[in-house]
Amino acid sequence: MTNPKIENLVIIGSGPAGYTAAIYAARANLKPLMFEGFQKGGIPGGQLMTTTEVENFPGFPEGITGPELMERMKAQAQRWGTECYTEDVTEVDLSQRPFTVRSSEREVKAHSIIIATGATAKRLGLPSEEKYWNHGISACAICDGASPLFKGKELVVIGAGDSAAEEAVFLTKYGSHIHLLVRREEMRASKAMQDRVLNNPKITVHWNTEAEDIFGGDVLEGVKIFNNKTGEKSEIKAGGLFYAIGHNPNTELFKGLLELDSVGYIVVKPGTVATNVEGVYAAGDVQDHEYRQAITAAGTGCMAALLAERWLSEHNLIQEYHQTPKSEEYTPTETTGTVVADTEETFDINNTRYVGGYALRKLFHDSDRLILVKYVSPTCGPCKVLKPILDKVVDEYEGQIHFVEIDIADNPDIAKTAGVIGTPTVQFFKDKELLKEMRGVKQKSEFRNVIESYLPAGVK
Ligand SMILES: Cc1cc2nc3c(=O)[nH]c(=O)nc-3n(C[C@H](O)[C@H](O)[C@H](O)COP(=O)(O)OP(=O)(O)OC[C@H]3O[C@@H](n4cnc5c(N)ncnc54)[C@H](O)[C@@H]3O)c2cc1C
Repeated sequence: MTNPKIENLVIIGSGPAGYTAAIYAARANLKPLMFEGFQKGGIPGGQLMTTTEVENFPGFPEGITGPELMERMKAQAQRWGTECYTEDVTEVDLSQRPFTVRSSEREVKAHSIIIATGATAKRLGLPSEEKYWNHGISACAICDGASPLFKGKELVVIGAGDSAAEEAVFLTKYGSHIHLLVRREEMRASKAMQDRVLNNPKITVHWNTEAEDIFGGDVLEGVKIFNNKTGEKSEIKAGGLFYAIGHNPNTELFKGLLELDSVGYIVVKPGTVATNVEGVYAAGDVQDHEYRQAITAAGTGCMAALLAERWLSEHNLIQEYHQTPKSEEYTPTETTGTVVADTEETFDINNTRYVGGYALRKLFHDSDRLILVKYVSPTCGPCKVLKPILDKVVDEYEGQIHFVEIDIADNPDIAKTAGVIGTPTVQFFKDKELLKEMRGVKQKSEFRNVIESYLPAGVK
């Protein structure tokens, strides 16, 4: 589908950088169009959607969860007129003006672009990594180190660069002892950082050492390691594991179009967020390998919007959009509120939607439909992203399927029996048999395909 209109500004990415840019641009009557992203380079809302408490974002002395902070930024961006599409950008053409930005659903033309696609922390891919991610494994010591989960515990840091050294030293404030696993027999960190590590009695460096796996119960209890010179295997008992093995900037789309540095970050003019293409700006982690914090991302998002507005104005390209006082009114986003679980009194087998363990047990035994069970947890950001997507699909199959939502915090036994180790997870059952499991946020079409494949012929 082609949109013949030329946008003032397209923003790619919906982390703190993207939403802050959107707030500023929308307040300047530019009516920015945002591609929030979906799966490439992270979910809508960005990296903070995968964390719990954010304690260092100014203005929230009581702390705020990452997902809530991002919901609030989005609400603020939309209040002033930002148009959001929950889609990944798949192609950008900067060779002609206006620029072209494509997703799988649409193609838009734009006079200016802000790239805020963030970066993805590298993972090692250890066998039990998924299970303990956010339950003992973190990719951000500065963000998570002070969590009660890690206080007074032995902690393991993996990495050999400046970040690893800095994180190891930082964690000595909270952990009882820090083990730094270094793959080679030397560190890549600067001499000064190495000295801080090597002279710190609370840090032990394990040279030529790599992690093999993690062990534990519900939370991480230690790391299995091996010496890559001698082959000797051993274990470190620890309450936390921190990856400091670098980030990959999400710049695949821009290779060959914009100047990138040797590791793929977008190069911006010093002290600004301008790229080497006029009218194209880069904000947040996609151009920052140094600070990588929500507040610095937001700050550069603001800079990008101000520069974009100035550039559009200088080139006489601005088409102004004015909101009405009514559309500017702030309507708090609908919160899910307390979801009331079904009971014997409320349960009706003819319904489509249910909540809680009672309904699941009844349906498991009595339903002749396909059953979708969605497992969620209260602080899970991706669960919030999945909700409207799956709700829409369930609506399409009203009366043909049964859909049950299980909060694993309220129903830990069910989650355990079902083998659920992360949220969101969706399981498909028919005739008491588990047919399929889907973890994480997926497209509507992926859910539809599975449902269609199990619906009896003639019901469709
Ligand atoms: C577990 C964890 C905890 C953290 N805790 C803290 C904390 O407590 N305090 C703090 O200040 N910082 C914290 N950080 C760091 C902080 O999250 C980042 O610095 C910040 O999110 C960077 O913002 P950003 O807008 O640049 O990018 P991101 O947040 O990475 O967002 C990138 C956005 O781009 C989108 N995107 C990517 N590719 C495409 C595409 N092709 N098309 C469309 N969209 C695309 C993604 O969907 C996403 O919406 C934490 C990071 C992690 C991983």
